Amino acid sequence: MNWITKVLKFGEKIKTEIKKRASKEDIENSDWTSCCKGPILKKDLEENLFVCPSCNKHHRINCKQRFNIIFGKNNYEILKTPIPADDPLNWKDTKTYKERLINARKKTKMDCGIMVVSTRINNINVTACSSDFNFIGGSVGAAEGEAILYGIQHAIENKQPFINFCSGGGMRMFESLIALSQMTRTTLAINELKKNNLPYITVLCDPVAGGITASYAMLGDLNVAESNSLISFAGARVIQGTIKEELPEGFQKSEYVQKTGFVDLVLDRKDLRENIGSILSILLKKNSDISSKTNETSEDIRTHTKAAS
Ligand SMILES: [Zn+2]
Repeated sequence: MNWITKVLKFGEKIKTEIKKRASKEDIENSDWTSCCKGPILKKDLEENLFVCPSCNKHHRINCKQRFNIIFGKNNYEILKTPIPADDPLNWKDTKTYKERLINARKKTKMDCGIMVVSTRINNINVTACSSDFNFIGGSVGAAEGEAILYGIQHAIENKQPFINFCSGGGMRMFESLIALSQMTRTTLAINELKKNNLPYITVLCDPVAGGITASYAMLGDLNVAESNSLISFAGARVIQGTIKEELPEGFQKSEYVQKTGFVDLVLDRKDLRENIGSILSILLKKNSDISSKTNETSEDIRTHTKAAS
């Protein structure tokens, strides 16, 4: 082999290496991720609560990362929620649903897509839940429905507000009607929470779509959204194709959805903890400044406070 062949072969090798795209696994295991300005160190992103310092994109985070940010590192108790039998319809398309569940559990180290915790915020005991987009796109099946119901029941039994960090693509098609029925079940459970005069706060995190938007995500006494989250029912392309009109800028983003009245408050991730704490204090009349300005008797205040402690 002469030197020309060697150089050409080396050139080919470099070309192949450059063309080779990183697998999903490579990206997950890498120290780097990407945002508006190209690569960014995951460590730097984490230090900024997984929010890009340049464009304020709120990157998706898992349940523990979210709870650590909102309630303090490991300052919560994870509740074990019931897991119904897997794959009741014996679903198979390009893969079996059972395989998908095995992969999702391995990837997220969770039994189902929603984690429920008992914790405190602003000295108020609360029950909270959050979902992981890496668990089959944050979709909701029977197990996720059970998790929400379990969380609400825990909140009612302990007279605590319930905070729901909602995200996910909708109801899980591999469970068909069983998944769709979770919309009704969670709605009925939220009604029970409200009958008990306990606050229900939703925090809509990118992305919230389909049946999640059409049920428990929009039923909060206050619906908060993280900045720049996608909040939709049907996808933008489907809507554009149906109405045959250009969609406005920022369509289905938190700020747009707030303008159209579906969301009460849009907040950056760094402001969630303080604001949710204050909102709950106001709703529960725990703040002495606010209590003194109301016309309620101290007996009323004591009752509210007791209900939330
Ligand atoms: Zn960015």
